[in-house]
Amino acid sequence: MRVLLVEDEPTAAQVLAKGLREQAYAVDVASDGETAIFLVGTTDYDAVILDVMLPVKDGMAVCRTIRASGSSVPILMVTARDAVEARIEGLDCGADDYLVKPFDFGELLARLRALIRRGGHPMLPERLSVGSLVLDTRSRRLWVRNREVLLTAKEYALLEYLVRRAGDVVGRADIAEHVWDEHYDPLSNVVDVYVQRLRRKLDRPGSESLIRTRRGEGYQLELTRDSR
Ligand code: CA
Repeated sequence: MRVLLVEDEPTAAQVLAKGLREQAYAVDVASDGETAIFLVGTTDYDAVILDVMLPVKDGMAVCRTIRASGSSVPILMVTARDAVEARIEGLDCGADDYLVKPFDFGELLARLRALIRRGGHPMLPERLSVGSLVLDTRSRRLWVRNREVLLTAKEYALLEYLVRRAGDVVGRADIAEHVWDEHYDPLSNVVDVYVQRLRRKLDRPGSESLIRTRRGEGYQLELTRDSR
């Protein structure tokens, strides 16, 4: 899942982005409203975390502009003002939810999950079995044929995205847009490299891979076949 974090305060942005990346989110950071509006117009984000207090164009104005452009990306507004009027204004300008600073990081994550769910990505069950895989979507742990396999945050994010889209053929650009951030180089083969890494961890040597290559189209995670 890919998130845009709009925060002008560098330390706060850095700490939040780091925390979100550790939770396997791909995170882009915008430090002003104009950049945020540009990025939302060019990238299919799964959610936006939007600070209200921004220089030049504040979060409310950014939110209105994003909505006026026709985007329905889930927006979580963050502000230091805990006044009812401020909350109402935030929701009225098109935000989906509202969080008051200082907030608990766990609460931010829970609200983010809820927003992404409402944004059209159904929540994955806490325990998910796909063939010989068992995925714990809360602790982000994976078991393959009853043996735990350690995944990096990026490997987990890729696997979770393929599991969400299980059965579909998912293109490399689609994967990159939701699993990688703005530093992704479209000319690189990093998606293929990570698919290979996952295959080494998921598949039994010599047997057909759980992640099939669809030549010219992308990758497809097989839902039904049991590779045990
Ligand atoms: Ca700020």
